[in-house]
Amino acid sequence: MNILFMGPPGAGKGTQAERIVAEFGIPHISTGDAFRLAMKEGTPLGLKAKEYVDQGLLVPDDVTNGIVRERLQQDDCKRGFLLDGYPRTLAQAEALDGMLKESGRRIDHVISLVVDRDMLLKRLTGRRICKSCGATYHILFNPPKQEGVCDKCGGELYQRSDDTEEKVGTRLDEYLSKTEPLLRYYRDQGLLREVNGEQEIDAVTAQITSILKGQAE
Ligand code: ADP
Ligand code: ADP
Ligand code: ZN
Repeated sequence: MNILFMGPPGAGKGTQAERIVAEFGIPHISTGDAFRLAMKEGTPLGLKAKEYVDQGLLVPDDVTNGIVRERLQQDDCKRGFLLDGYPRTLAQAEALDGMLKESGRRIDHVISLVVDRDMLLKRLTGRRICKSCGATYHILFNPPKQEGVCDKCGGELYQRSDDTEEKVGTRLDEYLSKTEPLLRYYRDQGLLREVNGEQEIDAVTAQITSILKGQAE
């Protein structure tokens, strides 16, 4: 099954992706995670991405498309994949269509998580991430058992440098101007399913699961 997760920063894409890939046994491909890893390692890709990520701007399409193209060619994607946070522009969506067509694949489901702007701000500024395993928490809405420590692996939690109030504003503007128009592209193809992302984490997971299993009304 080939799935796309869309939605503004903070909508819960990563949180839900972790759960859905565990259930369906497909790889979780997050372009944001790929950029953060490359930035940490200081690779040429990382240095390029940093110029944009640090400002809350989208990384240029050619750079982003390149990493996705490479990733989708790996063997573990043959059974399916979950793309989280890609595509974010019409040009990326068209590039993805090309990549999939070349290998005789197609998108099965596009899930869009819908969350109001005020809630997104609260979620992003309270988000904490595990340094070791990448698990996501929230200081109020999804706190770890022990403050600052990952439940899953005992790793140290940190706050992303782009999760500050000013960067979040830029990121939400980027979403509205460049990514939101894409919803139409997938709606027109009959692929888009909108899910209320303001429900409890478990309720959102249940709804997505039933859509993917074809059980939703
Ligand atoms: P969020 O969890 O807030 O949605 P991500 O971790 O997905 O954010 O992305 C972090 C940053 O990485 C973005 O602000 C952007 O700079 C870059 N990025 C991630 N995915 C893309 C993409 N598909 N196109 C361009 N830039 C991207
Ligand atoms: P995205 O990947 O879309 O940027 P995340 O999955 O990282 O979003 O979630 C953003 C923040 O909101 C995290 O701190 C996460 O723990 C929290 N969160 C995610 N889903 C929910 C939910 N349904 N209710 C409350 N908080 C949530
Ligand atoms: Zn961890």
